[in-house]
Amino acid sequence: MTGVLGEATIRELDIGMTGSVVGPGDPDYETARGVWNRAIDKRPALIVRANSTEDVARAVGFARSEGRPIAVRGGAHSLAGFSTCDDGIVIDLARLNDVQVDVEARRAFAGGGTR
Ligand SMILES: Cc1cc2nc3c(=O)[nH]c(=O)nc-3n(C[C@H](O)[C@H](O)[C@H](O)COP(=O)(O)OP(=O)(O)OC[C@H]3O[C@@H](n4cnc5c(N)ncnc54)[C@H](O)[C@@H]3O)c2cc1C
Repeated sequence: MTGVLGEATIRELDIGMTGSVVGPGDPDYETARGVWNRAIDKRPALIVRANSTEDVARAVGFARSEGRPIAVRGGAHSLAGFSTCDDGIVIDLARLNDVQVDVEARRAFAGGGTR
């Protein structure tokens, strides 16, 4: 599916999310859609700035119900531009950047948005 998502549809997703959503009408859309490789110039229908795993699950369900592709954005360093897409839902993990190191077990856990 392509085209702009309606206000009411976006509101449905937004309600109950702890993160935020950025659409083409928002002032920070141009900044939010940018990735490291400036040659990539894609225009997602919506960018979901997830604050929690629940937000991510909600965004996946939303994309599925709207028939939109999903791009997962971690550090946004993919040279090929795999962290964004046209007309789809970008799930931005930048806020999920918690890092925990368990020295005893010699294990580290890093959120998907960790740089
Ligand atoms: C300047 C520079 C230096 C680098 N240096 C190094 C280095 O020293 N060592 C090294 O190993 N790498 C290096 N890289 C490569 C870079 O670190 C890798 O591309 C890295 O894996 C990007 O991670 P990211 O979190 O930024 O992914 P993002 O760019 O955020 O990409 C998201 C990832 O999610 C995947 N994805 C997107 N949508 C979906 C979906 N719907 N379903 C499933 N998966 C999806 C994409 O394929 C992509 O892998 C460098 C890159 C740059 C630009």
